[in-house]
Amino acid sequence: MHTSSYWAKTSNSQPNREHLTRDVTTDVAIIGAGFTGLATSYYLQKSGYRTLVLDEHCVGWGGSGRNGSLMLVGYKHSLVAIAKKYGIDAAKEMLHMSLDGINLVKEIVEEHQIECDLTRRGSFCAAFKPSHLEGLKKEQEFMLKHLDYENYIVEAKDSRQEIDSPLYHGGLIDPNSHYFHPLNYAIGLADAVESSGGVIYEQSPAVSISRKQEHVIITTPGGQVKAKELVVATNGYTTPLVKKLYKSVIPVGSFMIATKPLDQGLADSLIPNRRGLFDTKKWLYYFRLSQDNRLLFGGRVDFRAQENDELFNTLRGNMLEVFPQLQNSEVDLKWGGKLALTMDLFPHIGHTEEGIHFALGYSGHGVSLSTLMGKLIALNIHQKGRNLTVLENLPLKEVPLHNQRVIVLSIVGSYFRFLDWVS
Ligand SMILES: Cc1cc2nc3c(=O)[nH]c(=O)nc-3n(C[C@H](O)[C@H](O)[C@H](O)COP(=O)(O)OP(=O)(O)OC[C@H]3O[C@@H](n4cnc5c(N)ncnc54)[C@H](O)[C@@H]3O)c2cc1C
Repeated sequence: MHTSSYWAKTSNSQPNREHLTRDVTTDVAIIGAGFTGLATSYYLQKSGYRTLVLDEHCVGWGGSGRNGSLMLVGYKHSLVAIAKKYGIDAAKEMLHMSLDGINLVKEIVEEHQIECDLTRRGSFCAAFKPSHLEGLKKEQEFMLKHLDYENYIVEAKDSRQEIDSPLYHGGLIDPNSHYFHPLNYAIGLADAVESSGGVIYEQSPAVSISRKQEHVIITTPGGQVKAKELVVATNGYTTPLVKKLYKSVIPVGSFMIATKPLDQGLADSLIPNRRGLFDTKKWLYYFRLSQDNRLLFGGRVDFRAQENDELFNTLRGNMLEVFPQLQNSEVDLKWGGKLALTMDLFPHIGHTEEGIHFALGYSGHGVSLSTLMGKLIALNIHQKGRNLTVLENLPLKEVPLHNQRVIVLSIVGSYFRFLDWVS
């Protein structure tokens, strides 16, 4: 278990699981014990399949156990932009898929009594520029008129109802967004998987994949798994194990800090309605108050994904831009993890030419979509040839100049950061 995150420090206990030490057979092997892999296993077990999950580290070690915890409605793109590109019906379908993702998490949490502080406080998307508020107003009007979905504008003059910050100019409230303790959800989901007979091996990296007649063989240092189907659910930690997937995602480091618990009065004044917040910058900040009144603050995207003091000092500086009131508040915890972008910034699900199932590339919106994707992968295995949604039909494109992506993306990233401040 990584130990530095707020989530790891406050998590429920979980068993130390065995690593694979012999050859085994299963119906479906799954690589990755984050939300995607665990949800796939969960839904397959419900349909009567035998599943086996392998993780190089442990349950929730990846983005699933380290994230900002914001279970947001929607995608990286606005619904206006989605409708412009794919049509209003597609936008409606995608919006409903995103809501389905949240509902599935709720269902699982309720059914299995997972203690993960799942809370519906809504989200507040804060406008970084006055012009961004105009964009949010268009989004709100479009969603009401064409998608029959209600969210609410907060004018710049009323910003302090939501956030006591000099940085923002109003924003948009989505009442259906939630947040939770992500690592505890992963731990609870793993528990539900195991209760239904699913098997999870930790410290068991998949090092190669081969085919033997009808079966796929996954080799780990301690033994092989022979399976009828294989699912790869490695998102930001995707390696060249499956070349097509490796070449199609851009792993990005995102980083977080947590202050020491703040006085109740100060916490209440910073974010009066305790919503989950993020802003309209391309390289956005995301933050919320924890149960014990810490500010959990994230941002600071880095394509090399390397943690260092300079990066965390900058992140603290970013936090103070938002809340100068925290000048004397000590940062207690610092951590980072990897998410995955795709070329079109949509999540992708499907199977490769070799028949390997996958879902990845949530582009920072995977906290609840990953549970939905797990369910859809399970359906793809259980009901071959079913009708696919618009989102599932989007082609997964390889990243041009993949080998040089860190250099190219660092340049593009700096340009976007520049645009955030000048546009
Ligand atoms: C700092 C941070 C903040 C974020 N904030 C938010 C947020 O607020 N809202 C939101 O919606 N999304 C957020 N995200 C993104 C979100 O966390 C991810 O989209 C989601 O967790 C993806 O889950 P996953 O199961 O697909 O992948 P992961 O949880 O990353 O799991 C992948 C797993 O694959 C394993 N693995 C990789 N290779 C192998 C191998 N060869 N063999 C065995 N195992 C392997 C890894 O060990 C890892 O456990 C954030 C991400 C980060 C890093």
